[in-house]
Amino acid sequence: MPMFNGRFVQRLVVLTGAGVSAESGVPTFRDPDGLWEQYDPMDLATPEAFRRDPALIYRFYNSRRARLAGVEPNAAHLALARLQREFAGDVFLVTQNVDDLHERAGSPQVCHMHGELLASLCGACGNKRPTDQPFDGASACPACASRGSLRPDVVWFGEIPYFMDEIEARLADCDLFIAVGTSGLVYPAAGFVRTARASGATAVEVNLEPSDTASLFHLQRRGPATEQLPALVAELLS
Ligand SMILES: [Zn+2]
Repeated sequence: MPMFNGRFVQRLVVLTGAGVSAESGVPTFRDPDGLWEQYDPMDLATPEAFRRDPALIYRFYNSRRARLAGVEPNAAHLALARLQREFAGDVFLVTQNVDDLHERAGSPQVCHMHGELLASLCGACGNKRPTDQPFDGASACPACASRGSLRPDVVWFGEIPYFMDEIEARLADCDLFIAVGTSGLVYPAAGFVRTARASGATAVEVNLEPSDTASLFHLQRRGPATEQLPALVAELLS
């Protein structure tokens, strides 16, 4: 059985956040072209903002979706995909990121708790569908044909993240919890370390800077995820 930090490890949960994709150049709310800099995230990522100015929200997400074509998975994404494929135990990957870089790196399982940029959700019939195309208020739902009901399938501020029951169950039954590139500011993800520790797991934080919940982790790996994660994965696979 694999060992880490002097203990046997059979079940892992890995949480990834914006820091992992930032190293690939995925813009979050601050686009390099400055197009969206004038906006507060609360004006771009809430149900209220969507009701108030749907055209703006469609433009913002169409722009983010189009930009994904120009970025590539980095060494951190690739290391996690390798861990999932080669680890002699169970690895559950949950991400706060809405891009598809884990999938493109070859990860066989990715739990998108904040949804996916490359998907639409119909407010009329609930249909979710992968798409790499722009859509807006004039687009028809491919399932129910209603117009004006499609939205990006992303979880906005004030909405409940997806798959929480499964995530909580995995956290309550893991030996090792690794959080990579997360700020520790956004709940419920910021609380995952507490759930994992309550079940006796070792907790490792991989981050450039100590996160807001850094003191709750047993081990810290400071530095870019593209350097720290391949090293950590090599340890876990050795
Ligand atoms: Zn529909």
